[in-house]
Amino acid sequence: MNVYKFGGASVRDAEGIRNLARIVEQEQEPLIVVVSAMGKTTNALEGLTRALCEYDLKDFDELYDQVVSTGELQSTRIVSAYLNHQGISNVWIDITQVLITDSTYREAKVNKDVSERLLRSFMRTHPARVYVTQGFIGGTAAGKRTTLGREGSDYTAALLANMLNAKSVTLWKDVPGVMTADPIRHRDAQLLSQLTYDEIEQILARGAQVIHPKTIAPLREKNIPLFVKPFLHPDEAGTIICNPPYSF
Ligand code: ASP
Ligand code: MG
Repeated sequence: MNVYKFGGASVRDAEGIRNLARIVEQEQEPLIVVVSAMGKTTNALEGLTRALCEYDLKDFDELYDQVVSTGELQSTRIVSAYLNHQGISNVWIDITQVLITDSTYREAKVNKDVSERLLRSFMRTHPARVYVTQGFIGGTAAGKRTTLGREGSDYTAALLANMLNAKSVTLWKDVPGVMTADPIRHRDAQLLSQLTYDEIEQILARGAQVIHPKTIAPLREKNIPLFVKPFLHPDEAGTIICNPPYSF
């Protein structure tokens, strides 16, 4: 089992979703595809929630999670339907039913043991080679949707990989991999092709935004390699993050 995560930029429009399908088509092994909301949808839904709450902020956080989580539910419905249409048969997982969290809205904490049991049991009763599910969101045992913190889809991918003892996680990004600097602002930024878990954690601790900082721990725990690759050039090697040796 491998885990692929596609961020908002990669699924921002129809061409992005076609590109995702071409990448998924290349993978022959069992796969979980974790998808964010399309483009800047999360920001738009955040704005909508603020507007709704203008006069009554009492339940803002709970309402925020109910509204903002629809971005991922919608994008994954579209991706799943398109993959099925293209002959890449897959099962859509409503992760709010299996990734069980507490009710710390906007920063919910995952109950890994319960979630792992529910996820494995769902996959047993819905066998498929490819699953499509949402990043960033979860749900309480009482059935309320929650969110794990902005840009949290990388973290979801790592958690699912940890629970399922996946072989690898690939984050498909709009950059060539992890770079020495932000390539948009620094034209001389260089690709870092190999990093250890310690090295990436140091880079993230200095404020680099390339990967959500909570992503590394669940992978390090199970020694699962993390690939960061450009979704527009899927054949490039990108960055591999793991403990050496770096041979796969
Ligand atoms: N869609 C969410 C956000 O923009 C989660 C993610 O992209 O990782 O924060
Ligand atoms: Mg995003």
